[in-house]
Amino acid sequence: MINPNDPKLKSWIEVKSNCDFPIQNLPFGIFKTKNRSPRLGTAIGEYILDLQACAEKGLFADFKIENSVFAQPQLNNFIALGKEKTKAVRAKIAEILSADNTAIKENKDLHPAILIKQSDAEMLLPVRIGDYTDFYSSIDHATNVGKMFRDPENALLPNWKHLPVGYHGRASSIVVSGTNFHRPKGQNLPPDQLQKPPKEQQPIFGASKLMDFELETAFIIGKQTEMGKSISTAEATDYIFGMVLFNDWSARDIQTWEYVPLGPFLAKNFCSSVSPWVVTIDALKPFRVEGYKQTPEVLPYLKYEGIKNIDINLQVYLQPENCTETKICESNYKFMYWTMEQQLAHHTVNGCNINVGDMMASGTISGPTENSYGSMLELSWRGTKPLKMADGSERKFINDGDTVIIRGYAEKNGVRVGFGEVKGKVLPAL
Ligand code: CA
Repeated sequence: MINPNDPKLKSWIEVKSNCDFPIQNLPFGIFKTKNRSPRLGTAIGEYILDLQACAEKGLFADFKIENSVFAQPQLNNFIALGKEKTKAVRAKIAEILSADNTAIKENKDLHPAILIKQSDAEMLLPVRIGDYTDFYSSIDHATNVGKMFRDPENALLPNWKHLPVGYHGRASSIVVSGTNFHRPKGQNLPPDQLQKPPKEQQPIFGASKLMDFELETAFIIGKQTEMGKSISTAEATDYIFGMVLFNDWSARDIQTWEYVPLGPFLAKNFCSSVSPWVVTIDALKPFRVEGYKQTPEVLPYLKYEGIKNIDINLQVYLQPENCTETKICESNYKFMYWTMEQQLAHHTVNGCNINVGDMMASGTISGPTENSYGSMLELSWRGTKPLKMADGSERKFINDGDTVIIRGYAEKNGVRVGFGEVKGKVLPAL
Protein backbone atom coordinates (compact mmCIF):
# COMPACT_ATOMS: atom_id res chain seq x y z
CA MET A 1 0.00 0.00 0.00
CA ILE A 2 1.26 3.51 -0.88
CA ASN A 3 2.09 5.85 2.00
CA PRO A 4 0.15 9.01 0.99
CA ASN A 5 2.30 11.13 3.34
CA ASP A 6 5.51 10.33 1.41
CA PRO A 7 6.96 13.76 0.44
CA LYS A 8 8.36 12.23 -2.76
CA LEU A 9 4.90 11.32 -4.12
CA LYS A 10 3.74 13.32 -7.15
CA SER A 11 0.37 13.34 -8.86
CA TRP A 12 -0.36 13.27 -12.59
CA ILE A 13 -2.70 16.19 -11.83
CA GLU A 14 -0.89 19.52 -11.69
CA VAL A 15 -0.69 20.93 -8.17
CA LYS A 16 0.80 24.40 -7.80
CA SER A 17 3.34 24.92 -5.00
CA ASN A 18 1.04 27.26 -3.03
CA CYS A 19 -1.95 24.89 -3.34
CA ASP A 20 -3.37 23.35 -0.14
CA PHE A 21 -4.30 20.07 -1.83
CA PRO A 22 -1.29 18.04 -3.01
CA ILE A 23 -1.37 14.23 -3.14
CA GLN A 24 -0.05 14.18 0.47
CA ASN A 25 -3.27 15.81 1.73
CA LEU A 26 -6.32 14.04 0.19
CA PRO A 27 -8.99 15.51 2.50
CA PHE A 28 -12.59 14.32 2.41
CA GLY A 29 -15.62 16.50 1.73
CA ILE A 30 -19.17 16.56 0.36
CA PHE A 31 -19.91 18.30 -2.92
CA LYS A 32 -22.68 18.57 -5.47
CA THR A 33 -22.83 19.54 -9.10
CA LYS A 34 -25.66 20.75 -11.37
CA ASN A 35 -26.46 17.27 -12.63
CA ARG A 36 -25.82 15.07 -9.65
CA SER A 37 -26.77 14.96 -5.96
CA PRO A 38 -24.35 15.35 -3.04
CA ARG A 39 -21.55 12.79 -2.77
CA LEU A 40 -18.08 12.25 -1.36
CA GLY A 41 -15.03 13.80 -2.92
CA THR A 42 -11.34 14.42 -2.33
CA ALA A 43 -9.57 17.66 -3.23
CA ILE A 44 -6.51 17.36 -5.49
CA GLY A 45 -5.01 20.54 -6.94
CA GLU A 46 -7.87 22.55 -8.42
CA TYR A 47 -9.98 19.42 -8.88
CA ILE A 48 -12.26 17.14 -6.91
CA LEU A 49 -11.86 13.40 -7.30
CA ASP A 50 -15.46 12.11 -7.34
CA LEU A 51 -15.38 9.14 -4.95
CA GLN A 52 -18.86 7.94 -5.88
CA ALA A 53 -17.78 7.80 -9.53
CA CYS A 54 -14.55 6.01 -8.54
CA ALA A 55 -16.58 3.45 -6.58
CA GLU A 56 -18.92 2.93 -9.53
CA LYS A 57 -15.88 2.35 -11.78
CA GLY A 58 -14.79 -0.38 -9.37
CA LEU A 59 -11.68 1.43 -8.16
CA PHE A 60 -12.45 0.64 -4.50
CA ALA A 61 -13.62 -2.93 -5.17
CA ASP A 62 -10.88 -4.40 -2.93
CA PHE A 63 -12.37 -2.90 0.22
CA LYS A 64 -15.88 -4.42 0.12
CA ILE A 65 -17.50 -1.08 0.90
CA GLU A 66 -21.06 -0.53 -0.37
CA ASN A 67 -20.99 2.04 -3.21
CA SER A 68 -23.81 3.89 -1.44
CA VAL A 69 -21.38 4.95 1.30
CA PHE A 70 -19.78 7.26 -1.29
CA ALA A 71 -23.16 8.64 -2.42
CA GLN A 72 -24.15 10.22 0.90
CA PRO A 73 -24.81 13.88 1.70
CA GLN A 74 -22.53 13.57 4.78
CA LEU A 75 -19.26 11.81 5.61
CA ASN A 76 -20.68 10.08 8.71
CA ASN A 77 -21.24 6.62 7.18
CA PHE A 78 -17.80 6.70 5.56
CA ILE A 79 -16.09 7.78 8.78
CA ALA A 80 -18.01 5.08 10.69
CA LEU A 81 -16.33 2.40 8.54
CA GLY A 82 -13.37 2.84 10.87
CA LYS A 83 -9.81 4.01 10.40
CA GLU A 84 -8.54 0.76 8.91
CA LYS A 85 -10.90 1.19 5.95
CA THR A 86 -10.77 4.97 5.61
CA LYS A 87 -6.95 4.90 5.71
CA ALA A 88 -6.96 2.21 3.03
CA VAL A 89 -9.27 4.35 0.87
CA ARG A 90 -6.96 7.35 1.29
CA ALA A 91 -3.97 5.21 0.28
CA LYS A 92 -5.92 3.89 -2.72
CA ILE A 93 -6.76 7.46 -3.76
CA ALA A 94 -3.03 8.27 -3.59
CA GLU A 95 -2.41 5.27 -5.84
CA ILE A 96 -5.12 6.41 -8.31
CA LEU A 97 -3.63 9.90 -8.46
CA SER A 98 0.05 8.94 -8.37
CA ALA A 99 2.18 10.02 -11.35
CA ASP A 100 3.48 6.44 -11.48
CA ASN A 101 -0.02 5.13 -12.19
CA THR A 102 0.26 5.24 -16.01
CA ALA A 103 -2.84 3.05 -16.48
CA ILE A 104 -5.09 5.74 -14.98
CA LYS A 105 -2.95 8.70 -16.04
CA GLU A 106 -3.28 7.67 -19.69
CA ASN A 107 -6.92 6.55 -19.52
CA LYS A 108 -8.20 9.92 -20.76
CA ASP A 109 -11.75 8.61 -21.19
CA LEU A 110 -11.93 7.96 -17.45
CA HIS A 111 -10.82 11.45 -16.37
CA PRO A 112 -14.05 13.39 -17.17
CA ALA A 113 -16.04 10.78 -15.22
CA ILE A 114 -14.02 11.01 -12.00
CA LEU A 115 -12.64 14.58 -11.97
CA ILE A 116 -14.60 17.79 -11.46
CA LYS A 117 -13.19 21.31 -11.34
CA GLN A 118 -13.64 22.68 -7.82
CA SER A 119 -15.03 25.84 -9.41
CA ASP A 120 -17.85 23.76 -10.97
CA ALA A 121 -18.93 22.24 -7.66
CA GLU A 122 -20.70 23.46 -4.54
CA MET A 123 -19.25 22.30 -1.24
CA LEU A 124 -21.64 21.26 1.55
CA LEU A 125 -21.36 20.81 5.30
CA PRO A 126 -19.07 17.74 5.51
CA VAL A 127 -20.65 15.95 8.47
CA ARG A 128 -23.96 15.59 10.26
CA ILE A 129 -22.94 17.08 13.58
CA GLY A 130 -24.62 15.42 16.54
CA ASP A 131 -23.00 17.41 19.32
CA TYR A 132 -20.70 20.38 19.33
CA THR A 133 -18.29 21.34 22.10
CA ASP A 134 -16.11 24.44 22.25
CA PHE A 135 -12.96 24.56 24.34
CA TYR A 136 -10.97 27.55 25.60
CA SER A 137 -7.48 26.15 25.26
CA SER A 138 -5.19 28.93 24.02
CA ILE A 139 -3.22 30.37 26.91
CA ASP A 140 -2.67 33.70 25.16
CA HIS A 141 -6.38 34.10 24.39
CA ALA A 142 -7.47 33.18 27.91
CA THR A 143 -4.83 35.52 29.35
CA ASN A 144 -5.87 38.42 27.10
CA VAL A 145 -9.56 38.02 27.95
CA GLY A 146 -8.73 37.68 31.65
CA LYS A 147 -6.67 40.89 31.53
CA MET A 148 -9.43 42.83 29.79
CA PHE A 149 -12.42 41.68 31.82
CA ARG A 150 -11.02 40.63 35.18
CA ASP A 151 -7.71 41.13 36.89
CA PRO A 152 -4.51 41.71 34.86
CA GLU A 153 -2.50 40.24 37.76
CA ASN A 154 -4.58 37.04 37.87
CA ALA A 155 -5.72 36.78 34.27
CA LEU A 156 -6.14 33.01 34.29
CA LEU A 157 -8.78 31.57 36.61
CA PRO A 158 -7.47 28.96 39.09
CA ASN A 159 -8.84 25.97 37.13
CA TRP A 160 -7.38 26.97 33.76
CA LYS A 161 -4.04 25.16 33.93
CA HIS A 162 -5.62 22.08 35.51
CA LEU A 163 -8.29 21.26 32.93
CA PRO A 164 -9.19 22.21 29.36
CA VAL A 165 -12.16 24.53 30.03
CA GLY A 166 -15.04 24.00 27.62
CA TYR A 167 -18.82 24.29 27.16
CA HIS A 168 -21.49 22.51 25.13
CA GLY A 169 -22.45 24.58 22.12
CA ARG A 170 -25.15 24.20 19.51
CA ALA A 171 -24.82 22.05 16.37
CA SER A 172 -27.92 23.29 14.47
CA SER A 173 -26.36 26.60 13.44
CA ILE A 174 -23.00 25.31 12.23
CA VAL A 175 -22.78 26.13 8.53
CA VAL A 176 -20.34 25.52 5.69
CA SER A 177 -18.02 28.23 4.37
CA GLY A 178 -19.75 30.74 2.09
CA THR A 179 -22.99 30.78 4.10
CA ASN A 180 -23.82 34.36 5.05
CA PHE A 181 -25.89 35.20 8.10
CA HIS A 182 -27.72 38.12 9.71
CA ARG A 183 -26.28 40.06 12.61
CA PRO A 184 -27.84 38.62 15.77
CA LYS A 185 -30.16 40.54 18.07
CA GLY A 186 -30.36 40.19 21.80
CA GLN A 187 -30.07 41.76 25.21
CA ASN A 188 -27.12 43.84 26.18
CA LEU A 189 -26.16 46.34 28.81
CA PRO A 190 -25.34 49.79 27.37
CA PRO A 191 -22.07 51.32 28.68
CA ASP A 192 -23.93 54.00 30.73
CA GLN A 193 -25.70 51.25 32.70
CA LEU A 194 -22.37 49.72 33.72
CA GLN A 195 -21.69 52.71 35.98
CA LYS A 196 -24.87 52.02 37.96
CA PRO A 197 -25.19 49.74 40.98
CA PRO A 198 -26.01 46.18 39.78
CA LYS A 199 -29.60 46.34 41.12
CA GLU A 200 -30.38 49.41 38.98
CA GLN A 201 -28.84 48.16 35.72
CA GLN A 202 -31.36 47.94 32.89
CA PRO A 203 -30.58 46.00 29.68
CA ILE A 204 -31.81 46.99 26.22
CA PHE A 205 -32.76 44.84 23.23
CA GLY A 206 -31.36 45.29 19.74
CA ALA A 207 -28.88 44.25 17.08
CA SER A 208 -25.46 43.36 18.46
CA LYS A 209 -23.01 46.24 18.10
CA LEU A 210 -19.90 44.22 18.91
CA MET A 211 -19.78 41.44 16.31
CA ASP A 212 -16.61 39.39 16.40
CA PHE A 213 -15.01 36.34 14.82
CA GLU A 214 -13.01 33.67 16.65
CA LEU A 215 -10.12 31.96 14.87
CA GLU A 216 -10.44 28.29 15.72
CA THR A 217 -10.00 24.80 14.37
CA ALA A 218 -12.26 21.86 15.16
CA PHE A 219 -11.75 18.12 15.18
CA ILE A 220 -14.31 15.59 14.07
CA ILE A 221 -14.93 12.42 16.04
CA GLY A 222 -14.19 9.25 14.08
CA LYS A 223 -15.32 6.52 16.46
CA GLN A 224 -18.15 6.32 18.95
CA THR A 225 -17.98 5.29 22.58
CA GLU A 226 -20.51 3.79 24.96
CA MET A 227 -21.71 5.80 27.93
CA GLY A 228 -19.41 5.18 30.90
CA LYS A 229 -16.27 4.69 28.78
CA SER A 230 -13.36 7.12 29.07
CA ILE A 231 -10.75 7.69 26.39
CA SER A 232 -7.12 7.94 27.51
CA THR A 233 -4.75 10.48 25.99
CA ALA A 234 -2.90 7.52 24.45
CA GLU A 235 -6.07 6.26 22.69
CA ALA A 236 -7.42 9.69 21.77
CA THR A 237 -5.77 10.16 18.36
CA ASP A 238 -7.53 7.02 17.19
CA TYR A 239 -10.91 8.67 17.93
CA ILE A 240 -10.12 11.78 15.85
CA PHE A 241 -10.97 11.51 12.15
CA GLY A 242 -9.75 14.91 11.01
CA MET A 243 -9.79 18.66 11.37
CA VAL A 244 -11.45 21.72 9.80
CA LEU A 245 -11.07 25.48 10.17
CA PHE A 246 -13.72 26.95 12.43
CA ASN A 247 -15.03 30.49 12.90
CA ASP A 248 -16.96 30.74 16.16
CA TRP A 249 -18.76 34.03 15.45
CA SER A 250 -19.42 35.88 18.70
CA ALA A 251 -21.55 38.83 19.79
CA ARG A 252 -19.45 40.39 22.54
CA ASP A 253 -22.10 42.76 23.93
CA ILE A 254 -24.65 39.95 24.25
CA GLN A 255 -21.94 37.72 25.76
CA THR A 256 -20.88 40.21 28.45
CA TRP A 257 -24.42 40.51 29.81
CA GLU A 258 -25.56 36.89 29.57
CA TYR A 259 -22.54 34.71 30.37
CA VAL A 260 -22.65 34.82 34.18
CA PRO A 261 -22.83 32.26 35.75
CA LEU A 262 -23.38 29.50 33.16
CA GLY A 263 -21.21 30.63 30.25
CA PRO A 264 -21.87 31.47 26.59
CA PHE A 265 -25.38 31.04 25.18
CA LEU A 266 -27.03 33.35 22.58
CA ALA A 267 -23.78 35.25 21.99
CA LYS A 268 -22.38 32.17 20.29
CA ASN A 269 -25.14 29.91 18.97
CA PHE A 270 -26.49 32.04 16.09
CA CYS A 271 -23.79 30.88 13.64
CA SER A 272 -20.46 29.07 13.45
CA SER A 273 -18.72 28.47 10.11
CA VAL A 274 -16.55 25.52 9.06
CA SER A 275 -14.29 24.85 6.09
CA PRO A 276 -15.63 22.14 3.77
CA TRP A 277 -12.60 19.82 3.49
CA VAL A 278 -11.85 17.53 6.43
CA VAL A 279 -8.07 17.10 6.58
CA THR A 280 -7.42 13.71 8.15
CA ILE A 281 -5.41 13.46 11.34
CA ASP A 282 -3.20 11.02 9.39
CA ALA A 283 -2.32 13.68 6.79
CA LEU A 284 -1.33 16.03 9.63
CA LYS A 285 0.98 13.50 11.29
CA PRO A 286 4.21 14.82 9.67
CA PHE A 287 3.49 18.28 11.13
CA ARG A 288 3.22 17.28 14.79
CA VAL A 289 5.37 19.38 17.13
CA GLU A 290 6.06 19.48 20.87
CA GLY A 291 3.33 21.10 22.94
CA TYR A 292 3.59 23.52 25.85
CA LYS A 293 5.49 22.39 28.88
CA GLN A 294 2.56 22.29 31.26
CA THR A 295 3.22 23.66 34.74
CA PRO A 296 1.82 23.00 37.25
CA GLU A 297 1.89 19.31 36.42
CA VAL A 298 -1.49 18.06 35.23
CA LEU A 299 -3.44 15.21 36.83
CA PRO A 300 -2.49 11.71 35.63
CA TYR A 301 -5.47 11.30 33.25
CA LEU A 302 -4.35 14.42 31.36
CA LYS A 303 -0.69 13.43 31.00
CA TYR A 304 0.41 12.25 27.59
CA GLU A 305 3.43 10.85 25.84
CA GLY A 306 4.79 11.75 22.45
CA ILE A 307 4.47 14.80 20.26
CA LYS A 308 0.86 15.95 20.25
CA ASN A 309 0.70 19.55 19.08
CA ILE A 310 0.55 20.46 15.38
CA ASP A 311 2.28 23.24 13.43
CA ILE A 312 -0.58 24.77 11.39
CA ASN A 313 -0.19 28.33 10.07
CA LEU A 314 -3.44 30.25 10.44
CA GLN A 315 -4.41 33.60 8.94
CA VAL A 316 -7.49 35.78 9.20
CA TYR A 317 -8.53 38.30 6.54
CA LEU A 318 -11.24 40.94 6.74
CA GLN A 319 -12.89 42.08 3.51
CA PRO A 320 -15.23 45.07 3.67
CA GLU A 321 -17.97 45.22 0.99
CA ASN A 322 -16.50 46.16 -2.44
CA CYS A 323 -12.94 46.19 -1.10
CA THR A 324 -9.91 43.92 -1.22
CA GLU A 325 -9.15 41.80 1.84
CA THR A 326 -6.75 42.88 4.57
CA LYS A 327 -4.79 40.36 6.60
CA ILE A 328 -5.55 41.09 10.25
CA CYS A 329 -4.10 38.07 12.06
CA GLU A 330 -1.33 35.51 11.70
CA SER A 331 -1.45 32.76 14.30
CA ASN A 332 -0.60 29.07 14.60
CA TYR A 333 -2.30 26.02 16.06
CA LYS A 334 0.95 25.19 17.87
CA PHE A 335 0.19 27.97 20.38
CA MET A 336 -2.50 25.77 21.95
CA TYR A 337 -1.82 24.95 25.61
CA TRP A 338 -4.10 21.90 25.70
CA THR A 339 -3.86 19.28 22.93
CA MET A 340 -6.83 17.66 21.19
CA GLU A 341 -5.91 14.38 22.89
CA GLN A 342 -6.14 16.03 26.31
CA GLN A 343 -9.43 17.72 25.39
CA LEU A 344 -10.92 14.38 24.39
CA ALA A 345 -9.57 12.59 27.49
CA HIS A 346 -11.07 15.32 29.66
CA HIS A 347 -14.39 15.36 27.77
CA THR A 348 -14.90 11.62 28.35
CA VAL A 349 -13.28 11.18 31.78
CA ASN A 350 -16.72 11.33 33.43
CA GLY A 351 -18.16 8.70 31.07
CA CYS A 352 -19.71 11.14 28.57
CA ASN A 353 -20.16 9.23 25.30
CA ILE A 354 -19.20 10.61 21.89
CA ASN A 355 -20.47 9.87 18.39
CA VAL A 356 -19.10 9.88 14.86
CA GLY A 357 -19.47 13.39 13.45
CA ASP A 358 -19.35 15.20 16.79
CA MET A 359 -17.36 18.40 16.46
CA MET A 360 -14.99 19.79 19.07
CA ALA A 361 -13.56 23.23 18.55
CA SER A 362 -10.25 24.46 19.93
CA GLY A 363 -11.29 27.82 21.31
CA THR A 364 -9.83 31.04 19.93
CA ILE A 365 -6.23 30.43 18.86
CA SER A 366 -4.21 33.49 19.83
CA GLY A 367 -0.43 33.63 19.75
CA PRO A 368 1.92 35.65 21.95
CA THR A 369 2.27 38.69 19.64
CA GLU A 370 -0.27 41.46 18.95
CA ASN A 371 -0.68 40.44 15.29
CA SER A 372 -1.44 36.84 16.29
CA TYR A 373 -4.56 37.48 18.34
CA GLY A 374 -7.50 35.40 17.10
CA SER A 375 -10.41 37.81 17.62
CA MET A 376 -11.30 41.47 17.03
CA LEU A 377 -11.78 41.80 20.79
CA GLU A 378 -8.07 41.19 21.27
CA LEU A 379 -6.75 42.68 17.99
CA SER A 380 -8.49 46.01 18.71
CA TRP A 381 -7.98 45.51 22.47
CA ARG A 382 -11.66 45.93 23.31
CA GLY A 383 -12.06 48.65 20.69
CA THR A 384 -9.19 50.87 21.85
CA LYS A 385 -6.87 50.12 18.87
CA PRO A 386 -8.84 50.18 15.60
CA LEU A 387 -7.49 48.16 12.64
CA LYS A 388 -6.86 49.84 9.27
CA MET A 389 -8.49 48.25 6.22
CA ALA A 390 -7.21 48.41 2.61
CA ASP A 391 -9.86 51.04 1.76
CA GLY A 392 -8.69 53.31 4.60
CA SER A 393 -11.66 52.57 6.84
CA GLU A 394 -11.17 51.37 10.40
CA ARG A 395 -12.60 48.45 12.32
CA LYS A 396 -12.95 47.81 16.03
CA PHE A 397 -15.44 45.01 15.47
CA ILE A 398 -17.18 43.54 12.37
CA ASN A 399 -19.45 45.79 10.28
CA ASP A 400 -22.45 44.72 8.20
CA GLY A 401 -21.22 43.65 4.75
CA ASP A 402 -17.84 42.54 6.07
CA THR A 403 -16.55 39.10 5.10
CA VAL A 404 -14.17 37.26 7.42
CA ILE A 405 -11.93 34.62 5.84
CA ILE A 406 -9.76 32.14 7.75
CA ARG A 407 -7.08 30.17 5.89
CA GLY A 408 -4.69 27.56 7.24
CA TYR A 409 -2.00 25.14 6.17
CA ALA A 410 0.86 23.05 7.53
CA GLU A 411 4.14 23.01 5.60
CA LYS A 412 7.32 20.94 5.92
CA ASN A 413 9.92 19.41 3.58
CA GLY A 414 8.34 21.14 0.59
CA VAL A 415 4.92 19.60 1.28
CA ARG A 416 1.99 21.88 2.07
CA VAL A 417 -1.11 20.29 3.57
CA GLY A 418 -3.85 22.90 3.83
CA PHE A 419 -7.48 23.39 4.72
CA GLY A 420 -8.49 25.87 2.02
CA GLU A 421 -10.62 28.51 3.69
CA VAL A 422 -13.72 29.24 5.70
CA LYS A 423 -15.50 32.47 4.96
CA GLY A 424 -18.75 34.15 5.87
CA LYS A 425 -20.34 37.57 5.53
CA VAL A 426 -22.29 39.46 8.16
CA LEU A 427 -25.59 40.77 6.74
CA PRO A 428 -27.66 43.48 8.45
CA ALA A 429 -29.89 42.35 11.32
CA LEU A 430 -33.37 41.21 10.29
CA1 CA B 1 -15.08 29.98 20.86
